[in-house]
Amino acid sequence: MKFSIITLFPELFRTFQEESIIGRALREKQAEVNIVGLRDFGLGKHRQVDDTPYGGGEGMLLMPEPIYSCFDYLSQKMFYSDGFPLENNNTKKRRRIFLSPQGKKFTQRTAERLAGYEDIVLLCGRYEGVDQRVRETLIDEEISIGDFVLTGGELPAMVLMDAVIRLLPGVLGKEGSHQFDSFSKAFDGKREYPQYTKPSSFKGMDVPDVLLSGNHAEIEKWRKKHLH
Ligand code: SAM
Repeated sequence: MKFSIITLFPELFRTFQEESIIGRALREKQAEVNIVGLRDFGLGKHRQVDDTPYGGGEGMLLMPEPIYSCFDYLSQKMFYSDGFPLENNNTKKRRRIFLSPQGKKFTQRTAERLAGYEDIVLLCGRYEGVDQRVRETLIDEEISIGDFVLTGGELPAMVLMDAVIRLLPGVLGKEGSHQFDSFSKAFDGKREYPQYTKPSSFKGMDVPDVLLSGNHAEIEKWRKKHLH
């Protein structure tokens, strides 16, 4: 599965791509992340990417031209040699997503759905967001990571990628299975039970006896009861 991220701040993604489970998944080619710097497509010698909103108001908006050029570049240059029509690209394989607080709320179900695509383009907004014409013509869906406003779409893009990449076959390896996580079918969509590791007693806090009993049927019963 391939992600292309359009961002004004490519550096923010560096450690995300290198560390831990996601870093290993990318090194082992279980997923691919291509970072595309929007500034490279800016206008004029100052590489302008934003301008004031028509009608007045605070802040700046990302202009349509650099974003269109960026999508054009994606279509022609690198990753999509089989064609990548600029507009109306609503296919089962590809999804173009704008991260936005106005979008549909991201959930585990969204992550599961997105894990079924082959190519995902993530457009990260900045300032007051992007020109409406981009949203109407280049974007298949808008996703919000919650009812709060961040300074940019980069953290939401990382949240989305992390949640999707860990679902891909082989990615979790020894660390465990996503089939037994909060919100999974195995847990009836509920949140996970409490977990403990050694020592069995720590600062006067003891692990529940049943978990030390070795009685698997009782342990399962206890865990099921403590899903919430
Ligand atoms: N003016 C916009 C509004 O009121 O909806 C907020 C713009 S926000 C300061 C700048 C960018 O950060 C957005 O375009 C979006 O890409 C990203 N962003 C901020 N909060 C987000 C959230 N909760 N989920 C997804 N993206 C978010």
